[in-house]
Amino acid sequence: MSQSFVYQSQPARVIFGRGTLAQLPAEAERLGLRRLLVLSTREQAELGAQVQQLLGARAVGTFAGATMHTPVEITERALSNVKELDIDGVVSVGGGSTTGLGKAIALRTDLPQIVLPTTYAGSEMTPILGETQAGIKTTQRSFKVLPEVVVYDVDLTLSLPTQMSALSAFNAIAHAVEALYAPDANPIVSLMAEEGVRAIVDALPRILKEPGNPAARADVLYGAWLCACCLGAVTMGLHHKLCHTLGGVFDLPHAQTHAIVLPYALAYNEPEVPEAMMHLGRAMKTEDPVLALLQLERECGIPLALRDIGMPHDGIPRAVEQAMANPYGNPRPIEEGALGELLQRAWAGEGG
Ligand code: NAD
Repeated sequence: MSQSFVYQSQPARVIFGRGTLAQLPAEAERLGLRRLLVLSTREQAELGAQVQQLLGARAVGTFAGATMHTPVEITERALSNVKELDIDGVVSVGGGSTTGLGKAIALRTDLPQIVLPTTYAGSEMTPILGETQAGIKTTQRSFKVLPEVVVYDVDLTLSLPTQMSALSAFNAIAHAVEALYAPDANPIVSLMAEEGVRAIVDALPRILKEPGNPAARADVLYGAWLCACCLGAVTMGLHHKLCHTLGGVFDLPHAQTHAIVLPYALAYNEPEVPEAMMHLGRAMKTEDPVLALLQLERECGIPLALRDIGMPHDGIPRAVEQAMANPYGNPRPIEEGALGELLQRAWAGEGG
């Protein structure tokens, strides 16, 4: 344990369980909200409509236009609905894309947000917002975007396809991994990180066998919540910066990129982070967390190489250049040659 540290807690109200969606009207009442806009993606429009129905007269509209990377044009379209309908709060039901739209609205209006997460990406517990405009993704931190209430309903995750569940779970694990070696790491966040990884790694294989198993779904969602708290609490390093760069430059899918890069980023940092490796080893019941991550990924049948998700081989030097452009904290210094090798291995899926 570090001898000295700073821990700052974030305001959060979290409701967790099965069937907790039913508590949404009471939560809206608690916040005094009477003119809610329900946000979703197009694919989850039906769920958005169900939520609107549940809220009755309190929900005055739906906006089923959320998409990946929170494009500012979409936010502007949603904002015109906010204005026309005189909205006093938003309900985001979906994954990180929908939560991102709710946050982008909150940033510009200060409206309260209630979030019902349906993936394990974790945006709901962070004061972070990434937005894209004219193809450029920028990320900012602001307490204005931290949701007021998060309602985790295990039942809403039952429909998440197995492969997407696995990818999203690795996205969550990545938050915990980098929290364990963050420059501002602290014992409380490390507890959450270890327990989050433990819960996910233990239950994910059960979801693969039985996607509708509510106990396994509850364990992974619980783990994902803890990992999300880690993401919101401390500074991320090489892994998150690299995924951000790859997503932005090559338009690679978010969760897939995280899942593929994670073992390679961890292997890069491994020599410098013995304490983090100890936590991960305990959480995963292994002496080799990098290998254990790769094995679990193989078991999940998810893509294991950046080339399989559309990254061009001749893009590696560009990715290295971009990742080196803005210096950031990482336990092992970012060296151009070593970063190129990391990306070459992740591109080919050669193992950590
Ligand atoms: P997503 O929200 O884009 O969802 C992917 C697809 O799966 C969508 O079509 C969605 O409607 C569908 N889906 C979601 N849940 C489902 C369910 N239970 N059943 C069936 N279909 C379902 O994916 P994501 O990985 O959750 O989010 C990715 C986005 O979130 C990225 O833009 C990323 O940058 C952002 N993100 C932000 C933060 C943050 O702290 N700001 C953290 C993590 C992710």
